[in-house]
Amino acid sequence: MNLPKKILTWYDNNKRTLPWRIRENSKKKLYYRILSEFMLQQTQVKTVIPYFNNFVKKIPNLKALSKSSEKQILKLWEGLGYYTRAKNLHKTSKILIKKYNGQIPESFVKLKDLPGIGDYTANVLLALIYNQPRIALDGNVKRVLSRLFNINTEDVLNLFKTRRNGDLAEALMEFGALICKPKDPRCHECKIKKMCAYYASESKVRLKRKIKIQLKSYDIFCYLKKNKKQIALTKNNDLGFLKKFNLPKIQETSKKNKNWKFLCNYKNSISNKKLNINLYYKFSTKIPSEYNWYSLNKNNEFIPSFTKKIFRQISHLY
Ligand code: SF4
Repeated sequence: MNLPKKILTWYDNNKRTLPWRIRENSKKKLYYRILSEFMLQQTQVKTVIPYFNNFVKKIPNLKALSKSSEKQILKLWEGLGYYTRAKNLHKTSKILIKKYNGQIPESFVKLKDLPGIGDYTANVLLALIYNQPRIALDGNVKRVLSRLFNINTEDVLNLFKTRRNGDLAEALMEFGALICKPKDPRCHECKIKKMCAYYASESKVRLKRKIKIQLKSYDIFCYLKKNKKQIALTKNNDLGFLKKFNLPKIQETSKKNKNWKFLCNYKNSISNKKLNINLYYKFSTKIPSEYNWYSLNKNNEFIPSFTKKIFRQISHLY
């Protein structure tokens, strides 16, 4: 049995039941796959499942998504993080409905032109929806291929010829997630260990480590209303993350914080950054024109968890 056949047989017998795995080609399958691929960028399967189920309950198809408000989408995305994904998904749904009649383009280049779709997502969608012979190289698949051939290379795609391209793209990811795991590959139960160079080799090639987490220090300055439990927020921060979200003033740590009272220091992770936060405050009724007052308790608006954490710290003052 050749390699793709072995992996597909393993996949057929062992794949997980996931809510976005729909067999028949349909509009539902297209929508579920696009939505899940956006959610799965940077987030683990088990975290995505409840968000996905809730999302499709409220917004059941691509057309409904294109007509939803960004506010509604962000509310459903709340807690999943990396909110640019939600915004890009919304923009992409509008383009797909308007320009492509609710389908995805069959061209890799055109697909990659859509907001939030990079090489990986374009490859995986073309394989899953159009059965194109593409292998989507996420971390799992790169690891499987590197171990199998005991080399750090991506030039192995022509070894995977099959008619079930969509399934194979997914089978490789699934195999990497369940068997050829990052730390402890389950080689003893692996159906392709006889073909695996890593298994046979004494000098195993180490995979490149993941991107290093950056640690950065930021000062956050909160204007507060003394008797009303309110905080002033602005969309005017440009940090490269949480752009255009309501936040207090944030800047990289400096020593010129004389007019502010220090509240606390804590750590927060966001995207691939680890942030060291110094939180400052002052009670004031006057705020700069680009700020608006927000309640620390009740908000109908979407608030990123980064901001909620600030709210929690500030609440100790009242
Ligand atoms: S034998 Fe081990 S390292 Fe090789 S593919 Fe199987 S699980 Fe991965």
